[in-house]
Amino acid sequence: MEGPSLFLAQKQLRPFRGDIVRKATGNTTAFDPAMLKGLEVRDVFAWGKHLVIQFGDFALRFHFLMFGTFEAEVDKVWVTGDYRRSRMPKLSLEFSNGTFNAFSCSIKIIESRNAKAAYDFGIDIMSRAWNEKRVRKLLRASSGEQIADALLDQDIFAGVGNIIKNEVLAITHVAPTRTVGSLSDAMLRQLVAVTRAFSKQFYLWRRKFELLEHLRTHRKRVCRHCGGVLSREKTGRRERWSYWCPTDQR
Ligand SMILES: [Zn+2]
Repeated sequence: MEGPSLFLAQKQLRPFRGDIVRKATGNTTAFDPAMLKGLEVRDVFAWGKHLVIQFGDFALRFHFLMFGTFEAEVDKVWVTGDYRRSRMPKLSLEFSNGTFNAFSCSIKIIESRNAKAAYDFGIDIMSRAWNEKRVRKLLRASSGEQIADALLDQDIFAGVGNIIKNEVLAITHVAPTRTVGSLSDAMLRQLVAVTRAFSKQFYLWRRKFELLEHLRTHRKRVCRHCGGVLSREKTGRRERWSYWCPTDQR
């Protein structure tokens, strides 16, 4: 799950703030779920690809990795869509007004009464505190990296995943294998601005369950612009799948 999906999750789970965990189960081995029973949810927030549930003395940090996901029912409505999972959740929390189930994710305990304070929201692609100037500076500092690797760097673009990376490179007509240092300052400026704008657009589409129909290159075969066949290759040192048009993206 990429940043915009976590940003959406934070909104969907907001009704659980102030609620008490009635029952906690799941097959997580990181801790005994039963210890959560009776605790009050003080806050729910997202940062980058993390979702954090803050209790009084500690917080739970969820990272959904590549295949993780969650579902939530609030006031008898499944806010995450109708698709039901049949697998056993890593963690399931029952509240007076609903349920939260997390699947295939990593869950860690953060020993802090205020986990939020340790996060740098200036680099969180969805945050109101996102600092464009600082992100540009961080990007320029990684001049030896391939742009596809830099876009996936969570210390520069927290929340950007493979879909956003592929789509932003298509919109800006940049090949994923170009090094940051080979791009002009104007190009880098545009890349940073488009990454922010596209992430917000991703959120709006995701909220209406219509993200996939809007994608240009990610997991596509043919270029929407010139009709040519897209290149598909694992690029960079992160070896993530890139999809790009060799004619339109240089
Ligand atoms: Zn093309």
